[in-house]
Amino acid sequence: MIYLDYSATTPVSYEVLDTISKVTKEFIGNANSIHSLGKKSADLLESATKQIADIFGVNSNEIVYTSGATEANNMALIGVAMAHHKKGKHIIVSKLEHPSIYAICDYLKSIGFIIDYVNNDQEGLIDFDDLKEKVREDTILVSICAVNSETGVRQPLKMIRQIIKKENIATIFHSDMTQAIGKVPVNFHDVDLASMSAHKIFGSKGIGFLYKSSMVKITPLIYGSGKSNDLKPGTPPLPLIAALSKAVRLACNDLEKRERFVGLLNDKIVNVMEKYPNIKINKTKYSIPHILNISIMNVMPETMIHALEKYEIYVSTNTACASGEVSHSVAAIYDDVKRSKHTIRISLSYVTTTEEVNKFLSIFKEVYEKLSMVR
Ligand code: PMP
Repeated sequence: MIYLDYSATTPVSYEVLDTISKVTKEFIGNANSIHSLGKKSADLLESATKQIADIFGVNSNEIVYTSGATEANNMALIGVAMAHHKKGKHIIVSKLEHPSIYAICDYLKSIGFIIDYVNNDQEGLIDFDDLKEKVREDTILVSICAVNSETGVRQPLKMIRQIIKKENIATIFHSDMTQAIGKVPVNFHDVDLASMSAHKIFGSKGIGFLYKSSMVKITPLIYGSGKSNDLKPGTPPLPLIAALSKAVRLACNDLEKRERFVGLLNDKIVNVMEKYPNIKINKTKYSIPHILNISIMNVMPETMIHALEKYEIYVSTNTACASGEVSHSVAAIYDDVKRSKHTIRISLSYVTTTEEVNKFLSIFKEVYEKLSMVR
């Protein structure tokens, strides 16, 4: 098998699996219980959280566990909207967000919030002048993803924060960092809120977190009991949390070295793909190497994906959460309907090997030539 869909999800690493298994077996107490088994679990919860917080240079009480990035995005956007609607109802997002952000915005719009879309340039970078113009007195929130899940375009969050705060110091800045964490360095101090998901970094599905600066107030979406967190009451899923902590520690190692290696793999694929006259490379100078998007103009993406699958090669159309649709991100960058309907996302990891890439390229050639002839 050649797995090239690491941005959709990753397999769980052995170390993480080992943590899940050990904690499940050895920490049976509810971290909210007052007896010694509960205390043992609460201690582990505290140390696992501290390890995550230390890696990102934030406080433990600023980490709120969620079931993944979709829940973290909901908690952030709806939580801010509910807490700050008296100050304003204006929210700004980019045109390069994950579908979950747009779904939340649709909901917020249906209950009276105003959603504005900031423009980007042809490299996918947020248009700073447009952002400056759009931030108003009643703008309560700006949400801009750190790395776009379809094209890998990475935004300069620090600069974006400066623009937002200069226009309105009270505007809260959220970033969906799901595709950035574990691939490139991130700085939580550039934002007020950040979302992530463990299953993108060799952790388990069903766990992630929202970083929430202690300076920011949001309204809880879930009500219940338990002392561990006001925003996410209930029994903490300790095996998943300990495993998330392990996954974060493993993923945030050697980032630069790993990125350089993935860059070489990306170059190798681009060098071959750009020679095909009917293939367009949807890569800008801001794309991180882990996500490579191409448009095969003369073959439908689903046809190519299923043809490659016969050789046990796995790639995506655009993002796993919007399979079969137009790539909104490619449309936002290239303004070309056909190009955005024909996208394939090849996503790489530091665990991808050169041999896998070579084999992928030779099988791709064979499959592509066959499919091109059919037409
Ligand atoms: N945001 C981004 C940028 C993503 O890539 C994804 C996963 N495709 C999500 C949010 C949703 O994450 P989860 O599946 O953990 O809810």
